[in-house]
Amino acid sequence: MKEINMHTSLQYIKGIGKNRAKILSDEFGLKNCYDIINFYPFRYIDRRKFYKVQDLVESNSYVQIIGFFKSIKYIESNKKFRLEGLFFDGEKEIKVLWFKGLKWVEKSINNKQKVVLFGKVNWFKNTPSMIHPEIEQLNDFSRKKRIRIKPIYKSSEKTVNSGMSNNFFIKLIDRILKDLEQNIRESLNTDINKRNDLMSKYSTYLNVHFPLDFNLQKKAIFRLKFEEIFFNQLIFHLKKNKIKSKKSFYFPKIDLKFNSFYENNLNFALTSSQKNVLKEIRNDFRSGNQMTRLLQGDVGSGKTIVSLMAMLIAIDNGYQCCLVAPTEILANQHFENFNKYLNNLNLNIEILTGSTKKSKRVTLFDDLKKGVLDILIGTHAIFEENVLFKNLGFAVIDEQHRFGVKQRAEIWKKNNPSPHILIMTATPIPRTLTMSIYGDLDVSIINELPPGRKKINTLTLKDSKRLRVFKFIEDQIKTGRQVYIVYPLIEDSKKMDLKNLEDGFESVCRYFDNENYAVGVLHGKMKSENKDFEMNRFVNGETNILVSTTVIEVGVNVPNASVMVIENAERFGLSQLHQLRGRVGRGEYDSYCILMTKDKMSPDAETRINAMVTTNDGFKISEIDLKLRGPGDILGTQQSGVVDFKIADLTNDLKIFDLAKKEVKKLISNDPKLKNPNNITIRQELLEFYNNKSWSSIG
Ligand code: ADP
Ligand code: MG
Repeated sequence: MKEINMHTSLQYIKGIGKNRAKILSDEFGLKNCYDIINFYPFRYIDRRKFYKVQDLVESNSYVQIIGFFKSIKYIESNKKFRLEGLFFDGEKEIKVLWFKGLKWVEKSINNKQKVVLFGKVNWFKNTPSMIHPEIEQLNDFSRKKRIRIKPIYKSSEKTVNSGMSNNFFIKLIDRILKDLEQNIRESLNTDINKRNDLMSKYSTYLNVHFPLDFNLQKKAIFRLKFEEIFFNQLIFHLKKNKIKSKKSFYFPKIDLKFNSFYENNLNFALTSSQKNVLKEIRNDFRSGNQMTRLLQGDVGSGKTIVSLMAMLIAIDNGYQCCLVAPTEILANQHFENFNKYLNNLNLNIEILTGSTKKSKRVTLFDDLKKGVLDILIGTHAIFEENVLFKNLGFAVIDEQHRFGVKQRAEIWKKNNPSPHILIMTATPIPRTLTMSIYGDLDVSIINELPPGRKKINTLTLKDSKRLRVFKFIEDQIKTGRQVYIVYPLIEDSKKMDLKNLEDGFESVCRYFDNENYAVGVLHGKMKSENKDFEMNRFVNGETNILVSTTVIEVGVNVPNASVMVIENAERFGLSQLHQLRGRVGRGEYDSYCILMTKDKMSPDAETRINAMVTTNDGFKISEIDLKLRGPGDILGTQQSGVVDFKIADLTNDLKIFDLAKKEVKKLISNDPKLKNPNNITIRQELLEFYNNKSWSSIG
């Protein structure tokens, strides 16, 4: 037979052929030998252990027992025959049943000869039995040494129907591994292997498919995970180096605008986290290379002011800036805040959203092109092609996780060279996710809240306690505070939810009569000027209570609001709950987040509510959220597919991420182009198996 290698297409492998190859490719994306040896078992059955019938318990699924058949007989019921055997392990019997192939079974069973019975245990009225177990002669059994721990592979109707059983996969992979022994080479280098106690590449494959014991299997899995993360991080680092070596604008000085803001306008002291981040940004600005930095910080940690001060540096150096927000409400609020913060500094600030009038756009675009505008704030409308700057030097993207990753690139096109970019996330995301989707960015973290913030008291109440909640709200309003009441709005039940909101609004209005209280209502179906009107009334303290859907979720800042009531809290996701909670506790007042729930909740909902009650820390919340939902759901459909790890687990493998990342850093700083002979294996691996993802970065 022709010699095979990693790239040999499966159709040429003995026992596969065209049809099965197509099925393997369609069902599991397996195309060549490399794919099939990287098709790992999803579980194992331990066939080293032998059970006694009397020790079987209901939680055993697959077991094996040594013994012999005492008897075997045909039984008829409902005109159908079955075979019933009594299998004796020397102490106790277990019933074994066959419904198919009876003649063959009867013939092949030799009474009194010792065999190994292997199969799933069924329980009926506290009595175990087995149906169609595998039977192996004791002699054969001890010869096949490697398969003591049996790998179980994913299967589908199609693979099974075309004769590709689990045993088929076992034989196939076993044979390919033997044939490829000479082809499977080390993919990392000896130092990395040694430092991280990695098993050799070939043993890794052997021990992931056919482990001799579970310790070896664990070591093999560790290496596979390590390697997968290593190459993921390596590609990011190569990309990052490439971005970083891109020239961008050089902002050497800090001048009038920044200084005058710092001395006259800034009426609080920056936290040390904020100062650090500013320093990091300033260093990037002075490097002459392009900054692409991710700023993470909890809700209310003061990311906006940091971005604003960075803008002043850009402006002091003669450049324009922009800020892109995910919603119109938020863009408006940023616009107002920037105007307030930058009062008297003689800067031209404008806002551009979907609802900016045509006539206004004409002058705005003109001013932008002429360089009359210093700062443009807006929604994704800013990404549109006809929005042209004179010299955009710095762009801030707020609450990035609402945008697709691709949109990052849009802003690059707004100037040549590309402007510096700062991306701010709404809530922290788990570190593994940050590394695996933003691995090509530098990351800054604000891990403290401004001083003097009051803790937000979070409590949960059943719907039946509503009157108590109203009474509490009333007291808060009497002391001058304002209150949010939020209803869920979920796409596929919009009508019903809107009704919920309306009913809720009515019951609030019944309790809080309109002579003494002002109650506003806000939802996504409203016209944008009406939304602004309602939002502004609340911001200005004209309404006491704002009944709303999650449109207020992102970024809105009303320091006087002290109570956030979340209706049907069990229906919200964890990060959304945390975002909503972040709308209160933004001023000097004691604040409360009240989670109203149904009497009965799903276990997941209970975990979410519990997490909210026990911690205020957004970084912790994000970890719990990841465990509950998995990375795909956290990132949303826009970005799904961005993280496609085969074996690494973003929820549990943070330690391996850290180890692999450390090695990547070391490698890149010593040998950025991977030219060193020691690293030739790494370079080869990258080019051979990660080609489409890495060719442009390794160059
Ligand atoms: P977020 O990080 O959620 O975007 P913001 O930037 O909106 O937070 O800041 C929340 C509030 O905290 C704003 O009112 C802001 O003026 C205020 N703030 C920011 N930094 C400080 C600070 N160092 N000391 C006191 N208040 C601050
Ligand atoms: Mg914000």
